[in-house]
Amino acid sequence: MIGVTILGSTGSIGKSTLDVLRRHTNRYKVIALTANGNAQELLEQCAEFQPVYAVLADQEAASTIQTGLSERSPATQLLAGKQALEFVAQLPEIEYVMAAIVGAAGLLPALAAVRSGKRLLLANKEALVISGTLFLEEARRNSAQILPIDSEHNAVFQCMPARFEQGLNQVGVKRILLTASGGPFRTMPMEELAGVSPEQACAHPNWDMGRKISVDSATMMNKGLEVIEACLLFNASPDQVQVVLHPQSVIHSLVEYADGSTLAQMGNPDMRTPIAHALAWPDRIESGVEGLDLFSVARLDFEPPDEARFPCLALAYRAIRDGGSSPAVLNAANEVAVEAFLNSRIAFTAIPEIIAAVMDRIPVAEVLDLEGVLEIDRQARSMAEELIVNKNQESGVSKS
Ligand code: NAD
Ligand code: MG
Repeated sequence: MIGVTILGSTGSIGKSTLDVLRRHTNRYKVIALTANGNAQELLEQCAEFQPVYAVLADQEAASTIQTGLSERSPATQLLAGKQALEFVAQLPEIEYVMAAIVGAAGLLPALAAVRSGKRLLLANKEALVISGTLFLEEARRNSAQILPIDSEHNAVFQCMPARFEQGLNQVGVKRILLTASGGPFRTMPMEELAGVSPEQACAHPNWDMGRKISVDSATMMNKGLEVIEACLLFNASPDQVQVVLHPQSVIHSLVEYADGSTLAQMGNPDMRTPIAHALAWPDRIESGVEGLDLFSVARLDFEPPDEARFPCLALAYRAIRDGGSSPAVLNAANEVAVEAFLNSRIAFTAIPEIIAAVMDRIPVAEVLDLEGVLEIDRQARSMAEELIVNKNQESGVSKS
């Protein structure tokens, strides 16, 4: 039996992971489940999976389920606080950790898993984007395996030759083609974008996801973060990673080889496929996802992304080319701006404006250690918040 910790079990990826594990109780044992504040959902999950640990990052939320937990999952120990997330990511009785917390909040627990040599199933792209090579070096030093859950990177991993870590040129790989659906606003008239609501932005045409990544998909910052993620995971230069709009989300990404071959991984858009792939790799297991019906798919369309419509994509390329602290600044500013948009404090079109302004104001610096990453993350967050407050004051003044 393989012991598994799921960081962020109450989220969209967390629930899809539990759905795969539910089908393979003879192969995997859920040892720890964690959530931020959704105590009731965590309690229900514990009642079903009877883990050894349940963790709530929010201390107050934890007290609300202590009684329920001792009745419905008496062997489960309830822990609270951020450090408990790191604790359950490095337990000796686990081999795999699903990193499915959203945003930079997932960095330290994901790093704890890597430092203790676990197989890390990486959904939490922000953790990798902000810590970059530091994260990968920790994995190498501790023989931790990182398997991508992001559907595009999982697809690329499936299409890569076995020895890709030696360098893409050495193994005859020319380019990585990351597919993108274009989100809900791919064809909306540009002048309407400023007025879209959080609900419209979260209504993704093909994928059912958490709110933050849904907004990222609507701005295409999600694809920008994924370009950075691909450069890191596959040791590619930004020029070797091309984004291709593919509205049907059936091809999850492609790898182009020197001999003219292009390999693609296809499937219905359901995260249980990459999750099952990474859980079982190098084997294959049932995920609950139906195979593709090519006759009902019928056609596949491709187009280049529109840079004017999706300025976040160019900002992400700028960040990876600048290197150093720049991806961490991009990510922090984006997290703050998306949260402000979701709380109706700024317009959808202000998201890239805030990010660009923060990137312009914080000079690119070398990032030497984790402390440096966390410091730059704090600095970029407070700069973004300040710009949002100023922006709102200015518009308040002009309105009155
Ligand atoms: P979600 O919002 O549905 O779930 C997030 C989970 O993280 C929840 O369990 C929540 O309780 C927990 N969490 C949030 N903030 C936390 C904090 N401060 N401390 C501790 N726990 C916290 O998000 P999601 O859609 O499942 O996405 C999770 C990650 O996976 C993101 O990084 C996202 O980019 C990535 N991802 C998601 C999908 C998808 O289809 N949903 C696809 C690819 C990649
Ligand atoms: Mg993705």
